[in-house]
Amino acid sequence: MASTEGESREERVRRLDREHVFHSWSAQGHIDPLPVARASGSYFWDHSGRRYLDFSSQLVNVNIGHQHPAVVAAIQQQAAELATLAPGFAHEARGEAARMIAEVAPAGLNKVFFTGGGAEANENAVRMARLHTGRPKVLAAYRSYHGSTAGAIALTGDPRRWPSEPGAPGVVHYWGPYPYRSAFHSSSPEEESARALAHLRQTIEVEGPHTVAAVLLEPVVGTNGILVPPPGYLAGVRELCDEFGILLIADEVMSGFGRCGEWFAVDAWNVAPDLITFAKGVNSGYVPLGGVVISDAVADSFRDRPYPGGLTYSGHPLACASVVASITVFRDEELLARVRQLGAEVIGPGLRRLAERHPSVGEVRGLGVFWAVELVRNRATREPLVPFNASGAAAEPMARFAAACREAGLWPFTHFNRTHVVPPCTTSPEEIEEGLAILDRALAVADSYTVAD
Ligand code: PLP
Repeated sequence: MASTEGESREERVRRLDREHVFHSWSAQGHIDPLPVARASGSYFWDHSGRRYLDFSSQLVNVNIGHQHPAVVAAIQQQAAELATLAPGFAHEARGEAARMIAEVAPAGLNKVFFTGGGAEANENAVRMARLHTGRPKVLAAYRSYHGSTAGAIALTGDPRRWPSEPGAPGVVHYWGPYPYRSAFHSSSPEEESARALAHLRQTIEVEGPHTVAAVLLEPVVGTNGILVPPPGYLAGVRELCDEFGILLIADEVMSGFGRCGEWFAVDAWNVAPDLITFAKGVNSGYVPLGGVVISDAVADSFRDRPYPGGLTYSGHPLACASVVASITVFRDEELLARVRQLGAEVIGPGLRRLAERHPSVGEVRGLGVFWAVELVRNRATREPLVPFNASGAAAEPMARFAAACREAGLWPFTHFNRTHVVPPCTTSPEEIEEGLAILDRALAVADSYTVAD
């Protein structure tokens, strides 16, 4: 390793990063990534020993917390026994991981296709839907993120898609429900649900139902705002899909495996999709893994004809061993119940208290360990604290708010005019209170930008 005399470890880490690592989504000359030395539970530390409470679960994926000993041990044991294996072989951890995922999925979804992450999962779910139905198009929501590979970024309904356009053909975007900023001028969640469903029906009708293979949605929209579906919406989408012979694909990459206090977010509304894509929380990203949970009907489509897709690392033994250990941890530590309680008794009430104290908080919404605090300049007009897709000087209020959190030892998740409170499922009530106290102080920065009516 190249080293410069007298250079500290932290300095070397920073220098190597700046010289050789090309980072995601970034202007390379405008970033200064924090060198991280270690992590445990709800915290991580930099090289000077400074501690951060991880209210972002990294990229909303470290659901069982950092360095869970049972998962680390399972990976170590699998590495010692068989570190890698081509996807064409049968393997104990691979079969066991698939069995455990099918077991927690809605009835009738019994097979799992493993991928390396969430984008590849969506690519394959769409491929399956097109081949199963023989139809070309997919409807996907605005205000969504589905990954950054060619197909997944075309499906994405946020500005990250723009630089990759024109993208894969056959994607049509529609508006999903968002009561706080309704595209349908609705005045209640019920009305929002009914109008969003009427809009989706109309979209299907004008596109030609016989051309639509699938509706793809995040059951609880993640990065684009933690948009919890209003009453009846998911069941209504399921009914529309059934009426027109369209498959329902639930992208549970962010919402699944404990985030919403359920195995899958759709469980909270008792809706069974035809295909579920997952990644992130399934094993907290200790080893990259994602996949598609497949209904019996779709799986049957490929009983006598080959499925035309595959990945060298599909069902990687280290990743699958970590899935088995992680789902076991969820059961042993009763994490789903714990998450529901954290959301209902600690995070939700705590954030609502902050909303009462801070004029910059326009709305608080969420469930489980999946919450958004929407920041505004004016509560009456709901003008966002920073404009849509703001960057540079226009984004400064959010940048200053995030900096205030970090300086106080909290690593926040921010997107546009929102901060998301998305800690690991294993975070204790005391740690949540510690984080809420920091948010309370940092929100003074956001308050300073508010304007009177
Ligand atoms: N789908 C959703 C809902 C996501 O939040 C993400 C990542 O944030 C993805 C898909 C893409 O997953 P990956 O980054 O593992 O490809």
